[in-house]
Amino acid sequence: MIVPLSEVGFEALIDQRRQSLRRVADGGHRIIGCVYPSFPVELFLAHKLLPSVLWADPSVPSAFEGSLQTFCCGFARNLFSQRSDNLLEPLSALFFPGNRCDSLQNLGDIWRFRFPEDKVLRLNYPSSKKSEAAIKYLAEELQLLSRAIEGFFGHPFSQKEFSRAVGLTAQFRASTQFIAAARLLQPQVLPYGEYAELICQFLTTPTPESLTQLEDTVATIRQALDETQQITTTEALGYALLHQDFDDFTSSPNTSSPRIAVIGGMVDPAAFAALFYKAASETAPNAEIVVDLLSFSFRTVFAHPPRLQGNPFEEIAKSLLSHFTEPTQEGLSERLIFLEKILAKFAIDGLIICEQSFCDPDGFEAPATTSIAEKAGIPTTRLYLDAEFSDRARLESKIQSFLETLTMR
Ligand code: SF4
Repeated sequence: MIVPLSEVGFEALIDQRRQSLRRVADGGHRIIGCVYPSFPVELFLAHKLLPSVLWADPSVPSAFEGSLQTFCCGFARNLFSQRSDNLLEPLSALFFPGNRCDSLQNLGDIWRFRFPEDKVLRLNYPSSKKSEAAIKYLAEELQLLSRAIEGFFGHPFSQKEFSRAVGLTAQFRASTQFIAAARLLQPQVLPYGEYAELICQFLTTPTPESLTQLEDTVATIRQALDETQQITTTEALGYALLHQDFDDFTSSPNTSSPRIAVIGGMVDPAAFAALFYKAASETAPNAEIVVDLLSFSFRTVFAHPPRLQGNPFEEIAKSLLSHFTEPTQEGLSERLIFLEKILAKFAIDGLIICEQSFCDPDGFEAPATTSIAEKAGIPTTRLYLDAEFSDRARLESKIQSFLETLTMR
């Protein structure tokens, strides 16, 4: 059961996810830890491996670690420290992306060297997206990964498991896209933190049980929207967001509470929600995050599922390349246009820009993001945070003063 975000902190969230992973491992699942949100879920499941996103743990300080390069970000350091402290015990293997950012590249290299007993798998991503050449390249890399998994665990790719996996992830995406669209129009249908934690729970344990929780939530939201005849509009907006074509939509909410958007890369969305609610509770308790453009939530959720027809590796490649891009990838201008439209069409009052400490991709993108919001007349605040939110008092004060400014406006 998901504990309401207003009542928990970062530590409790991580503990909750660790317990659900432990239960799944005790149930006989073999688990692969993934250090990056855009991973080939369906491929792992087709090999009877359960992929689980590895989250930063606030109880583990991401202190300087001599093995990693000095440029490595706080998130990479935190994961490395978790491994050094033997906190990743139920994992049978680890998955690292190649060609994403220097920190992840270095983390994967050093991990192999420092922990030679770990089974480490890597998938090299193309730097461009959506071209035929990129799909072909990624499909070949996926095939190599599939062979490596079979070599490690002896389970060949199963078409039957693949079909099941596609059904599971397609339903996950449809449900979360629906909630995201509903919240953009009427955020009161579900607090942001609960939406974010439902996503994080599924990414931790992508099982039918996690999906059931999500579907139950969607059923409740649909019931509420049915009363105001909003289901068709919400479904249409979900489809439009997926295709990044929502010129026909606008939202004119009848509320004076600040509507906040959050943008950034690999920040834990539910942990951020807990931080936000705590900060908002004193200055603007009705302020709500109506949309986030973070890597572990929006950018993971808004992607096309693989099709069952055709070559499965190509289909998985197309699905991975359809993810909404993030700061580690090309496509800045596309992302800025999308943000500009979101700010203009959905009555956003303020934008919080999250930057992970020592994250070059976040650091490069933040000035352009700020400038787009400023042009639209939307106040922004840049939050420089580490993976553990270790200086929470400073972060809370910064959010509080930002909300105060918005409330006065
Ligand atoms: S936080 Fe930034 S630097 Fe660190 S792994 Fe993610 S994208 Fe790379």
